[in-house]
Amino acid sequence: MRAMVLSAPGAPLQMQERVDAEPGEGQVRVKVSACGVCRTDLHVVDAELPNIKYPIVPGHEIVGRVDGIGRNVTMHRVGDRVGIPWLAYTCGVCRYCREGMENLCDRPLFTGYTRDGGYATHTIADGR
Ligand SMILES: [Zn+2]
Ligand SMILES: [Zn+2]
Repeated sequence: MRAMVLSAPGAPLQMQERVDAEPGEGQVRVKVSACGVCRTDLHVVDAELPNIKYPIVPGHEIVGRVDGIGRNVTMHRVGDRVGIPWLAYTCGVCRYCREGMENLCDRPLFTGYTRDGGYATHTIADGR
């Protein structure tokens, strides 16, 4: 796979060839069809958000097709067209998750910020 990678604050994105990512348990691999550019992506590239995980692949407005399925994924099949949002993962067990407010999760991951995003040929996403 190929990815556009941000390796340091303010650095230009650089194309890298990477080993194809394998979806873990509960995850899917998505072949990216398109990925928008959001103001938040610019904040990531300009290091205007805290705790950025370098190197990171930005991009969180992703549409693509599932092309790999991890264990225990029942909602998707290879070929499904899916969208991948900013909120990449929630724990499912903290008070906020249990009360239906997963946007406030204590241990979230964010696409293109703390988990690699969509400026790539493929990306990994939570199967949920
Ligand atoms: Zn956005
Ligand atoms: Zn949570």
